[in-house]
Amino acid sequence: MGSENTIDRITKREILSCAPGTTIYEAAKAMSQARCSSIIIVDDGQPIGIWTERDTLSVDFSDPESFGRPIASVMSTPIKTIHGKTNLGDAGLRFQLEGVRHFVVVDDSGKPVGVVSQSDVILRHGVEHFLVLRNVGSSVKQPMVKIAPGAALSTAVEMMGAMRADAAVVVGDHGEAPGIITERDLLRIIAAGGEMPPNVGAIASRPLITVNENDSLLSARNTLEERRIRHLAVVSDSGELKGLLSFSDILSSLQYEYVQRLDEALRERDEALLRSRKDLHIARKVIEASLDGIMICNPSGMIEFVNPAFSQLTGYAFDEVVGHNPSMLQSGLHDRSFYDRMWQSLHVQGIWQGEIWNRRKSGEVYPEWLTINVIRDEDGVITQYAAVFSDISERKKTEERIKNLAYFDVLTGLPNRRLFTDRLQVAIAHAHRHGAQMAIMFLDLDLFKRINDSLGHGIGDQVLCEVANRLQACVREGDTVARLGGDEFVILLPELDHVEDAAKLADRVISRVKQPLSVDEHELYVTTSVGIAVYPDDGLTDETLIKNADTAMYRAKDLGRNSYQLYTPAMNAKSFERLAMESSLRHALNRGEFTLVYQGKIDLVSGRMSGVEALVRWRHPEMGLVSPAEFIPLAENMGLISEIGAWVLKAACRQSQSWFDLGLPRVRIAVNVSTLQFREGDLAELVKQALQESGLPPQFLELEITESVLMQRVDENAQVLQELRAMGIHISIDDFGTGYSSLSYLKRMPIDALKIDRSFVKDITEDGDGAAIVSTIINLAHNLKLRAVAEGVETQDQADFLRQRGCDEIQGFLVSRPVSAEDLVSLFDRNLL
Ligand code: C2E
Ligand code: MG
Ligand code: MG
Repeated sequence: MGSENTIDRITKREILSCAPGTTIYEAAKAMSQARCSSIIIVDDGQPIGIWTERDTLSVDFSDPESFGRPIASVMSTPIKTIHGKTNLGDAGLRFQLEGVRHFVVVDDSGKPVGVVSQSDVILRHGVEHFLVLRNVGSSVKQPMVKIAPGAALSTAVEMMGAMRADAAVVVGDHGEAPGIITERDLLRIIAAGGEMPPNVGAIASRPLITVNENDSLLSARNTLEERRIRHLAVVSDSGELKGLLSFSDILSSLQYEYVQRLDEALRERDEALLRSRKDLHIARKVIEASLDGIMICNPSGMIEFVNPAFSQLTGYAFDEVVGHNPSMLQSGLHDRSFYDRMWQSLHVQGIWQGEIWNRRKSGEVYPEWLTINVIRDEDGVITQYAAVFSDISERKKTEERIKNLAYFDVLTGLPNRRLFTDRLQVAIAHAHRHGAQMAIMFLDLDLFKRINDSLGHGIGDQVLCEVANRLQACVREGDTVARLGGDEFVILLPELDHVEDAAKLADRVISRVKQPLSVDEHELYVTTSVGIAVYPDDGLTDETLIKNADTAMYRAKDLGRNSYQLYTPAMNAKSFERLAMESSLRHALNRGEFTLVYQGKIDLVSGRMSGVEALVRWRHPEMGLVSPAEFIPLAENMGLISEIGAWVLKAACRQSQSWFDLGLPRVRIAVNVSTLQFREGDLAELVKQALQESGLPPQFLELEITESVLMQRVDENAQVLQELRAMGIHISIDDFGTGYSSLSYLKRMPIDALKIDRSFVKDITEDGDGAAIVSTIINLAHNLKLRAVAEGVETQDQADFLRQRGCDEIQGFLVSRPVSAEDLVSLFDRNLL
């Protein structure tokens, strides 16, 4: 793109700057004298902050001594910069997106060369006719700040600050002429060295220049420009004061139209291109004037036409390319498959769009954004290919620079990894010198990907911003919350008296994050897992600390998410809890705290209950009902699983026999067996005893084992299974699909059924891969002559799907939750589907 269209052209070159140590007073004076509304704070040749008239509102006017503070303590930072070569359209969008009024313009080496304001950019685009169409009343800012002339200046500043107003009307009750005070007046007072006026009335500008609410914005703008002021009072026909209108109010009412217009211009250009299949001449004017390179090829791919911008961008004149193949522009950086995909898309969709590297005549390789449209005649025959492209090398460079320069995360405004690492290094050095402790916390949102995938990135981004706010609200001043990328956050606690304080903060963070969150119409729940690493115990360098906090975070995830872990496990409050649980688990059997609940398995053909699974529960005197998911792994670790397993087996066999004794029909009872029970103790012997003691016939007992039984200690386990099978016991593989069983083992092992894991069943109707996986497992089971059982069936749709695919049995909340032995009785011998 030519330079006539870049920021450079409209940049104001007089740039007012000062050193960080300059006082507020001196800075204000310099601005006042230069009639500049902003000043850049420069340190060591690099811009580090900016201070504008708007910032006068946060100066303490009740304490003129504060005007002697250094400007660096009140400046806004980091400074927003824009490269001089950015084109006007892109610049307009950046103002819009980043919500600022000024950008500091920098050159290739990052040196500031001037300032550009939003008004410069917008007015450059010829917007007068919009100003004619809109009237003043539509843009007037409300409510307006009104101050009595007798009020103190500091009160006025406070009111303006609170209402975010850049000016206030000074009007009394006794018919005095009204006046106005603005940010510019405040600047003047600071510049005057803190001589405080007795009251607001003494410095208000009079008369108040007015404009009628029915006048056009254009006439308002002209008045502002002629009078060299920035505010007008808006009055109604009857002379009533309605509010204030400022230059920036006019701009903001233009913004919408401006962006619309930008879009429209682009659309118009595209439409013109499409019409060109009928009459290329009409489009030619647009094409010739376009700043984008345009190339038209005939159906056999030879160049037919290029516009002047094409020549400017590629260096090839019209005659040098017409009649040639566009491959002369290829950079050699893309492989065959890249071009194959391009042609594929052109043939199927009629359009291709993307970034591509091409080569100029000079040999220089550059990136361009390219759109190719296929143009067809009424009969659908291809008549031309039209390619439109712009050189994006400047944009890419600028993006890269902004990315590298910036210390802040664009989405959330939090410090990014770079700034975090800097601060962490400082904190480590400080802690080292003072022999103190400090900590970092690594956070990752649990299952965040799901939100992104199901609701889209827009919602995902909003969630991240809200989480960022919540984290920020949890920490103290001096702590740093940063976003490392994706859904990863870190918190730096540079001063830590006790490790418990970090744990407490982690607790606060976890419970704060898990509060419901509403985004658009969605009510969402996110949780986070936190890992903590403490200096010096868990590492001496930034890298080790981050790595170890990350490790601890993964441990928290493994232990069930929504929790925190310290890197040094001995410090975990969770492990205290665990210790308590361990000691009571040891006594649970003797104290009779275990109990069984039962869940029916329903035959999909007969609709009747064909089996029952026994599921253990632990009634802890203080903790209440503890889920097996929590204590079974613990029992396995503690070597208690065989004992508990033996109790479960015997109790289940007894219960099954007593249903029969009540006169109910026989159904097979299934008992879950831990892999470790194959290793510790004699499982076959235990089963024999349980059957004997209860009187249950072996064919009515089923053991549910997991895939790991088939994969570990293969020979030994196979032998136990053979023994059980010889007794007539049924064997099924639980949670099938989550492990890694090999098909050859499945074939060799004596098993009767596969229980499809509920995670796949859940996905059946959510157009995930679930449906395909479930169908595959059912077929696999049938091919191996096994029954297929689906667990976790919660909806009728899932049941219908399973029946249609020939699944044999289902189990799940749809038919019954796990219930007590008494409650199960009502489910026997009736149609449950
Ligand atoms: P499992 O053997 O796969 O048991 C099925 C689990 O799914 C049970 O959880 C059950 O309550 C739950 N469930 C059943 N229908 C549905 C449904 O429609 N939707 C959902 N979301 N869940 C459903 P529970 O009772 O918490 O047991 C968890 C796991 O603990 C069991 O998974 C099993 O692996 C283990 N377990 C339970 N009892 C024993 C036992 O006596 N010994 C051993 N070693 N492990 C056991
Ligand atoms: Mg089971
Ligand atoms: Mg299961």
